[in-house]
Order: sequence, then structure tokens, then C-alpha cells
Amino acid sequence: MPRVAFLGLGAIGTPMARHLARPGFDLVVWNRTRAKADAFGAAHGARVATSPAEAARDRDVVVTCLPVSADVEALLDGPDGLLATLPAGAVLVDCTSGDGPTSRRMAARLAERGVGFLDAPVSGGVAGAEKGALTVMVGGEAATLEAVRAVLACFGQKIVHCGAVGAGDALKAVNNALLAMHLWGTAEGLVALAKAGVDPAVALDVINTSSGRSNASMNLFPERVLSRAFPRTFRLALLDKDVGIAADLAREQRVVSPLLQMTNELFRQARLELGEEADHAEVARVVERLGGAEIRALGGNA
Ligand code: NDP
Repeated sequence: MPRVAFLGLGAIGTPMARHLARPGFDLVVWNRTRAKADAFGAAHGARVATSPAEAARDRDVVVTCLPVSADVEALLDGPDGLLATLPAGAVLVDCTSGDGPTSRRMAARLAERGVGFLDAPVSGGVAGAEKGALTVMVGGEAATLEAVRAVLACFGQKIVHCGAVGAGDALKAVNNALLAMHLWGTAEGLVALAKAGVDPAVALDVINTSSGRSNASMNLFPERVLSRAFPRTFRLALLDKDVGIAADLAREQRVVSPLLQMTNELFRQARLELGEEADHAEVARVVERLGGAEIRALGGNA
């Protein structure tokens, strides 16, 4: 029976951890805000740890899902830290959408103790996590991935080995930078069309059977922007962080990347304007404010 710990019961961590609370798994959870872990433990029958060290004791696999890599790195040290108890032979699987340099540093420190490390960010959003249908992009040794594949398969439908440690982080950041570009670009186009008298609902209907379509145009704009619902499932602050990682990657690799760098600047400004709790689709509100029109269906409901 795999002994698993899950640390970080946030918007996506909670539905991921739910899939590990199943017969045949011995699950311990930890969360910075204890009340969330207690509620999870009560609802799903998992043991609740009072510290990362307690969570990691005797575990085969420790899964983390925090906002940024630096948050995970900060959990390693001190008497309550993961390194105090993680046994040799265990694997730390970091599902944070992290950054390669920090992941490589963590992997090296863990290797000194005989502990494996994988960066394993996910895509598919909260809805994908709820269904256990995430894509997991993994950086690290292939043999380490095989050792923990059964754990990742609880929440991941597609598990892809991308390369050495940091490869998963890099791929995730580029994917999300593309999401950010699609969000901003679609908003610009729809605001311009609205001002020109074209109903944004009609515009999206056409774009979504045409070559300009994307996940943003097909799902995010109809469900979140046109509807003015703006549900909060993936914070703009986290997408801004992802674009920053992709922009840094392009600079490190000496790639001419004006779109990535500009998107990084635009999302940094949007985050300052909308705050830490805004959803990523709310970036459309910034484009609306700058452009002077809203993306609403003119004929009523979308
Ligand atoms: P949330 O902000 O909803 O949750 C963050 C979690 O991390 C909470 O459990 C929070 O604890 C904990 N946390 C925050 N800071 C610290 C810290 N310094 N030390 C310890 N714990 C901390 O984030 P998400 O769950 O949305 O995202 C988690 C990761 O997954 C991010 O890297 C994100 O980019 C990625 N991701 C998110 C997706 C989504 O749709 N939401 C989709 C794909 C990837 P507390 O309860 O105390 O606040």
C-alpha cells in the first residue's frame, strides 16, 4: 500500500488530493491553514499532520502543490521541515507550476539524502482535477517517474515524461504563457469588435468555428467573460507567475521573445490592478477598461 502525503490543499490541490483518499492508499495531508486540512481529513478519512515533517515521516511519496517553487523550498528546512523526516528512497513530487532553477536546487539537496525529486506540474484546471483527468508534465529521471506513476495516475489521465528536472516546469510555463497571450489578444479583438458594433457573442460564435479559436475563445470567454460570471478557479497572480517563468526561460535560452516579454509586463500590471484574488479571466476587465467597452452579448444572454 503506497504511503502518500499531500501538502497544499488549495484550489487545485484539494481535488487532486481527493483522488488519493481511496482504498489501497495510506494518505496524510498537511495545509498551512490547519482548518482546511481538518475539514479535508474529516470529509475524506485522511490523517492530518501538524507539520511538513510529520506529514513526510515514513512516506513513500510526498506530493506538494503550492503557489511557487520558493514556497516548496521553504518547507524543506528546520525541525518541522520535510528534510527532517523524509526517508531515503522516498520521492518528492512537486505539482506546483514551478521554476526550473529552484526545482534543480531542491533535487540536488534531496539527492544528498537519497530522496528522489520530480517536477510534475499539471494542466486541465480545477474541472480536470475534479474528474481526475489532469495532464501531468514530468521532469526528472524516468525510473523515478515509473516508481510513482500509480500515484500520479490517481489524478492524471495523461502523464508525460518531458526530460530532466525542470523540464516539466518549463513546458508548463510556456503553455500558460500561450494561455495568457490568447486571453489578452482575444479580449483586445472583442473590445474592438464591440466598439465597431459587432455583438461579441456573434463574434465568438464565428471565431470558434474559424482559425482564431483557442481554449480562451471556446471556453473562457463564453463561460466567464460574456456571462460576466468570472468564477474564481485559477488566480491571475498565478498566471502572472507562470508568464514570468516563461519570459525568464526565453531570456536564459537567448531567444528573441518580444511577445513573451510584453505579455509578462501586461500581466504584471493587470495583477497590480486587480489584486491577488482575481481570476485569470478577469484580465479581460483591464482590456475593457483601457479600450472603453465591455465584452457583453448585445442581444441579452450569450
Ligand atoms: P491556491 O492559491 O488556491 O492555493 C495555494 C495553496 O498553497 C494553499 O493550500 C495555501 O495554503 C498554500 N500555501 C500558499 N503559500 C504557502 C506557503 N508559503 N507555505 C505553505 N503553504 C502555502 O493555489 P492553486 O491550488 O490554484 O495552485 C497551486 C499550484 O498549482 C500553483 O503553482 C498553480 O499555478 C498551479 N495550478 C493551478 C491551477 C488552477 O486551476 N487553480 C491549474 C494548474 C496549475 P493556505 O490554505 O494556508 O492559504
